[in-house]
Amino acid sequence: MSPLAAPLLEAARGMSAARLSVGTAGNVSVRDGSGFLVTPSGMAPARCEAADMTHVAADGSARGRRAPSSEWRLHHDIYAARPEVGAILHAHAPFATALACQRMDVPAFHYMVARFGGDSVRCGAYATFGTQALSDATVAALADRSAALMANHGMIVLAPDLASVLDRAIELEALCEHYWRARSLGEPPLLDAAQMADALDQFRWYGRPRPLDSDTPT
Ligand code: 13P
Ligand code: ZN
Repeated sequence: MSPLAAPLLEAARGMSAARLSVGTAGNVSVRDGSGFLVTPSGMAPARCEAADMTHVAADGSARGRRAPSSEWRLHHDIYAARPEVGAILHAHAPFATALACQRMDVPAFHYMVARFGGDSVRCGAYATFGTQALSDATVAALADRSAALMANHGMIVLAPDLASVLDRAIELEALCEHYWRARSLGEPPLLDAAQMADALDQFRWYGRPRPLDSDTPT
């Protein structure tokens, strides 16, 4: 069994504990060699053992005692397209899903939108769950971003490693809740391109010591 199986299960249980998904909804994966390890299809994390985590090779072939997540194509295609990604979390988190069901992008209403790589978090086109069409639509919505909404479905978050993917997903759900609440008071004013560019620049150094000679945004 891969040494990543136990941490993967822990992340999936963390997704449930944070109420990002309930029951069997959602799935989590971690890059493992040239393939990846993904949660099994149709099993609530609370009912899984580490040995239920499934390995999917780069050619799409699965190995394990369970069927891989029905969204394995989506995970597979993201790892192939995005070498910087080490872990992926897909959930039906309540506020993100409410916005996704309205097919709304999250615009630049708050600087934390830049946390996910740009001046919006896009909502991808609708396609049936578990299909290549959904994978294609979601990979497109993720261009230059580390998160997207999935129309009439949920959310997806990419991170460099398993340790940070759950944190990023919790942040995205909070952002969606903030947008939902702000919208309930009226149309929030949006940050302009220069303000979002400054926020993006700040995130280049966020959480790390900033070299003395680095440029400071105005
Ligand atoms: P799996 O249980 O097959 O991972 O499916 C859950 C889901 O969220 C499908 O989009
Ligand atoms: Zn789903």
